[in-house]
Amino acid sequence: MQASLPSRPGLIARVEPLTLTRAVRGPFDYRLRPEQADVGVGALLRVPFGRRKTLGVVLELATESELAPDRLAEPDAVLPPGVPADLVDLAGWIAREYCSTRARALALVLPPGTAGGVRRKQVLVAELTDAGADALDGDAQLTARQRVALETLRRDGPTVAAALGTPALRRLEGRGLVELHPRAQGRRPASVAIGRRLDRAPALTGDQQKALDAVLVSLAAAGGPAGAGGGGVRNGRGDGGGRFLLHGVTGSGKTEVYLRAVEAALAAGRGAIVLVPEIALTPQTVGRFLARFGDVVAVLHSGLGRGERHDEWLRLRSGEASVCVGPRSAVFAPLADIGLIVVDEEHDASYKHEGDPRYDARTVALRRAEQHDAVVLAGSATPRPESVIALARLRLPSRIDGRALPEVEVLDMRGIHHPLHPRTRMALADVRAAGGKAIVLLNRRGWSNFLSCRGCGHVWMCPNCEVALVLHRAAGQLSCHHCGHRRRAPTRCEACGSVAVARHGAGTESVEQELRDAFGAELPVFRLDSDAAAGKDRLARTLAAFEAARSGVLLGTQMVAKGHDFADVALGVVLDADQTLRFPDFRAEERTFALVTQLAGRVGRGEDGGKVLVQTLAPSAESIVFAARHDSDGFLEQELRRRKALAYPPHGSLIRIVCSAAEAGEALAVATRLHGLIAPTGQTVLGPAPLFRLRGRSRSQLVIKCPDRGAAVRAVGEAVDACAADAARRGVNVSVDVDPQ
Ligand code: ADP
Ligand code: ZN
Ligand code: ZN
Repeated sequence: MQASLPSRPGLIARVEPLTLTRAVRGPFDYRLRPEQADVGVGALLRVPFGRRKTLGVVLELATESELAPDRLAEPDAVLPPGVPADLVDLAGWIAREYCSTRARALALVLPPGTAGGVRRKQVLVAELTDAGADALDGDAQLTARQRVALETLRRDGPTVAAALGTPALRRLEGRGLVELHPRAQGRRPASVAIGRRLDRAPALTGDQQKALDAVLVSLAAAGGPAGAGGGGVRNGRGDGGGRFLLHGVTGSGKTEVYLRAVEAALAAGRGAIVLVPEIALTPQTVGRFLARFGDVVAVLHSGLGRGERHDEWLRLRSGEASVCVGPRSAVFAPLADIGLIVVDEEHDASYKHEGDPRYDARTVALRRAEQHDAVVLAGSATPRPESVIALARLRLPSRIDGRALPEVEVLDMRGIHHPLHPRTRMALADVRAAGGKAIVLLNRRGWSNFLSCRGCGHVWMCPNCEVALVLHRAAGQLSCHHCGHRRRAPTRCEACGSVAVARHGAGTESVEQELRDAFGAELPVFRLDSDAAAGKDRLARTLAAFEAARSGVLLGTQMVAKGHDFADVALGVVLDADQTLRFPDFRAEERTFALVTQLAGRVGRGEDGGKVLVQTLAPSAESIVFAARHDSDGFLEQELRRRKALAYPPHGSLIRIVCSAAEAGEALAVATRLHGLIAPTGQTVLGPAPLFRLRGRSRSQLVIKCPDRGAAVRAVGEAVDACAADAARRGVNVSVDVDPQ
């Protein structure tokens, strides 16, 4: 900025205060002091607000205000680095698109640590020790990820720890393989030059090349380096092109296509965002990006400390890093010019944010790509019907190793009163005999589903939620899987005094015991669920231990079917495949198909092929039958037909509104009023329908089924705003979910 202060008299900043109340809507005008003249859109200010101070983001600058200049307050302080202008614009779009407030949407795009005021001046740098070098050359026990980290250190010398994963490096430090020391920021080793190859890219297969070519053509047609850093949508082409769905079976080389596409974006002088479902579950994918691109990769995720996240954010903001790999929030990476956004495993439910705003990172990615004229490349073995319709499909029909997908056998569990089908027992015994590995999936944590009294029928329920409590035997507790309520496991019935307490259904905890009893120490069990893996480190360690083991069973909830790439799994088992089908949800079929298919994708990557067993009470359910045939085209075709008949997405949109309150009557009253406001706008409004009590609050739900999503979002937004004051007075919380999962 030039020091042209006299020519900018009375410059006014329109500021959105970062408050959570729906009732307060900015922007509000503030008069900038002369020394604040370089404040721009996205600047973060501390401003007087009523009798308080609050943080606020500058939405725009103006020279005039409706208020007289002497009635305007001045900001107390400017807090660098602020938010890039395009992200301010994106936040506004998210607020509208998801019926939230601008302040809440802005909170998503703030630099990490803004609220806590973290400002680290030091970064942690990792260096390989002699012992580390020996470990690489010798046959030390190293996971794939640890090996990648050590090899990177050997090739590049000292490297910022956050780029390789600080928690992982801490463990290596504990073994004396690396040294970690803090360094003043800015003394970070020079960025790895673009194009410098850290690992060797394999020659692509014909199918990979064809897919990549389509992306490259689109990249070449796209924007090029950003001109103005303005907020609007650039969309150089305006043809809605440049959106791809890479539909390829697991192991078909999708990640290699992403890597090449990112390389092309970098070569064009642009940046890239790579979204992955969850870092802790996908260390191998992240490791491959780090290994290929080194220091230009920044990793943003919740496993990092706030200071580390802040540092990585700054590296992206400054242009020092130009590839961001991370889970859904990485879609907000502060890159100046984005050429490509990759969405790996695009079917994964973790892309939907469950807080307010309930944004979908996949939808936000499309918008952000429009802003930057970037190409979107989403990929999956089990793409969503929505994506099949909306994106241009590229196909990778076969596994890289040329092996067939494993044979899938459906086992009818009707009439079998044991968690393991006899066929499953035999197959596991075979795995033990051969010294191999198996993955067993059961979507229920704990010991048993629920407890009831044989004497009087009493069922132990959560006092806060209308659901049964789940027994966790090792902890000696009953626990609520919705609100976390815990109590001691009962020894007798509180209603009638009987000591005959029945346990119903099986969870991962009891199946673990079952497997131990049946197969003994020769087939060790590695349990992976959110009980066993409290803390991301535990989770990564369990996966690493299973990988390193010669033989064993990885047992857990659906997280066992995600992302990992174990070379030698001979058997996959789904214990309760129709469990997902029993939810009253239009995505039930899609989820079940994905679960079985994704598990099958983890099996038989080794020499001996493999086998998948699917236990179910619904052996003729279409999702299970199609998954058993590896027929994703067949599944998608009939699923799209079904969705069309029912006007479900992508043939129409859904919006869900949940009103919750301590008093059922208050929640219902607000829901009814919302119904009365929305229905006359021509929308189909279902409800109010009661939902089970959750966390001590009664809930009432409306579902809006709409052919014209934009109009419905507007109608809902206006109705919710109109009710905001009334809802607040009644103690009713209103939550809007556009495109619920
Ligand atoms: P997906 O992402 O579709 O599951 P990956 O990209 O992980 O598949 O590829 C599976 C395996 O094949 C990986 O070990 C990868 O390194 C390897 N691979 C990918 N492309 C090639 C290629 N063109 N030549 C040789 N190996 C490849
Ligand atoms: Zn009883
Ligand atoms: Zn509860």
